[in-house]
Amino acid sequence: MNPIEEAEKIKDQIIAWRRDFHMWPELKYEEERTSKIVEEHLREWGYKIKRVGTGIIGDIGEGEKTIALRADMDALPIQEENDVPYKSRVPGKMHACGHDAHTAMLLGAGKIIAEHIEEFNGRVRLVFQPAEEGGNGAVKMIEGGALDGVDAIFGFHVWMELPSGVIGIRDGPFLAGAGFFTIKFRGLGGHGAYPHFARDPIPAGAEAVMALQTIVSRNVSPFETAVVSVTAFNAGTAHNVIPEEAELKGTFRFYNEEVGKLIERRIEEIISGIARAHNLESKSEIVELVPPTINHKEMADFARTVAEKYGLRYGEVPPSMGAEDFAYYLQRVPGAFLALGIRNEEKGIIYPAHHPRFDVDEDVLHLGTAMEVALAREFLR
Ligand SMILES: [Zn+2]
Ligand SMILES: [Zn+2]
Repeated sequence: MNPIEEAEKIKDQIIAWRRDFHMWPELKYEEERTSKIVEEHLREWGYKIKRVGTGIIGDIGEGEKTIALRADMDALPIQEENDVPYKSRVPGKMHACGHDAHTAMLLGAGKIIAEHIEEFNGRVRLVFQPAEEGGNGAVKMIEGGALDGVDAIFGFHVWMELPSGVIGIRDGPFLAGAGFFTIKFRGLGGHGAYPHFARDPIPAGAEAVMALQTIVSRNVSPFETAVVSVTAFNAGTAHNVIPEEAELKGTFRFYNEEVGKLIERRIEEIISGIARAHNLESKSEIVELVPPTINHKEMADFARTVAEKYGLRYGEVPPSMGAEDFAYYLQRVPGAFLALGIRNEEKGIIYPAHHPRFDVDEDVLHLGTAMEVALAREFLR
């Protein structure tokens, strides 16, 4: 069995699946339709199924070793602006991160593996997870047993920064760790003409926006990587009213857990300091922490060997400040998160992930499928 030839045979099927998922996007933890389709196919092909909410774990094959392959299934709350026949049929929801493609690619791999299971000397586990987009679906899947008995795990993400068809492989840190923060300053509202009778949260908020930037420039070592972005600042509604409250939201990113902890600590110190200076109350909430996605070098090397052996085009992929809950799997078992290049200027496929005109070059999705099959086959030799 040659994984590339097998994947080429079902290329149109993979595209058809992707388009179907694309037309009917479902947000995090609502992946009912998608997971039902996945489950039905896997059952038909002989997989043993375990359901974890809207997630699916499918096992096939017997042997000492187990390899897990993971796809995420959730879409985003974005209104699609592409004019394509497979445009999202659900207003305000869109597969703008390519998880439709990930699900279709892994379904393809599942089909090929099942048809040739006698050539796999071990067990293959397919993990179709919900809620990658800020829902930490990976954690739910791990709690549901997705990694029990697993020796290695691989996952794919379609990648706009790589030319179409190239598999991006990286050692060590690939995606950043991420946290969200919500900050509230509470003072005393009043008339815009009488600020001295009020305690105004707006100057404090403005100061906080600037001061938070000094975490990266003054606190984090210049040899480390970090981002702090304030992405929302809400306060007040009228020209002549000092509001009671100002709210700031934002995200921070890091490659080193220590740096993540430092940023968290400094956010709290800076905010409570500013609040004190302005005679306000403050609250900083730090939520949804995802660790950095760190590939295991021997597994990245293994992926390169596999790509080389089967003649798949591969190369180095630069690190990204984006984040992925695949990080949780890699904290527990060896593995690597791989990228599949989908950028195709001729087809106008150039818009970044989470953009309303994001699209994928469908003609290379079967190469992701081929690589998944090849990884499993070589790992279970
Ligand atoms: Zn995304
Ligand atoms: Zn994604």
